[in-house]
Amino acid sequence: MKKFADLHVHTSLSDGTFSPEKVVEYSKKMGLDAIAITDHDCVAGIGRALVAARDIGVEIVPGVELTAELGDGEIHILGYFIDWQDTLFVKKLDEIIKVRKERAKEILKKLNEHKVDVSEKELFDLSGVGSVGRLHIARLLLKKGFVPSIAQAFVRYLGDGKPCYVKKFKLTPAEAAGMIKGVGGVPVLAHPMTIYAGDTTIEDILGLLVKDGIQGIEVYHSDHKRRYEIKLKALAEKYNLAVTGGSDCHGFGKKEVLIGKVKIPYELVENLRSLI
Ligand code: AMP
Ligand code: FE
Ligand code: FE
Ligand code: ZN
Repeated sequence: MKKFADLHVHTSLSDGTFSPEKVVEYSKKMGLDAIAITDHDCVAGIGRALVAARDIGVEIVPGVELTAELGDGEIHILGYFIDWQDTLFVKKLDEIIKVRKERAKEILKKLNEHKVDVSEKELFDLSGVGSVGRLHIARLLLKKGFVPSIAQAFVRYLGDGKPCYVKKFKLTPAEAAGMIKGVGGVPVLAHPMTIYAGDTTIEDILGLLVKDGIQGIEVYHSDHKRRYEIKLKALAEKYNLAVTGGSDCHGFGKKEVLIGKVKIPYELVENLRSLI
């Protein structure tokens, strides 16, 4: 029987709403054979997912999603098959998580200045352990009735260039790719559709990123239209990049639960593994 994978899933250790155990259970229900746990700047969900998956028969690909600075905007770089227990790597992630926390406090200050009354305690109670981010803040604003939807939280306050936006600690693309390769992983450009690139094209950007060490590209993603997938697939061939895909599920953090809504053939996982 044909096997399928979803290589982009968040847990409650970053800004997903499902615990690693719940993610594994859900992926089985959705008929997936393999999933990658790709929390923002955090690997603390991987061990728990591995334990939960042991008896269920779902393969866990250890992953991470890093943010890198590109021009005025940012890109996300996924790392697959990383040695998630590497002490130095975990230490670096802990530093990034600390900076994220300080940034979240700054965002809250700005929100308070805009008469949005939310406290640090409320945010950190909601975000729990792991990495905190804008999606947590958006959820808090929704919960407290300051915005009618998550999307509006970004439109009104949190989105890039909006009044309460604060930049976060960012690596260069080469640093992010290097960090991933340093622990035996394969760096992959995440959801190219969401890159803000001004006048530059995705093709120009890819040329640069390949030099920086990127080895794959997320062709299939919940935000990618079919037309765009075809274009990205052609670019993957041109630059000899591995093709990956995933739902980018954040549990109930997004409009719908996305896990398994993007399913890629398992051969693509094997292809990715061959690059280790
Ligand atoms: P951060 O890493 O803290 O900058 O937050 C990034 C997270 O916010 C990712 O999970 C994105 O999916 C989410 N995000 C960014 N922009 C939006 C948006 N306009 N609507 C909903 N979620 C968003
Ligand atoms: Fe996220
Ligand atoms: Fe992302
Ligand atoms: Zn993601």
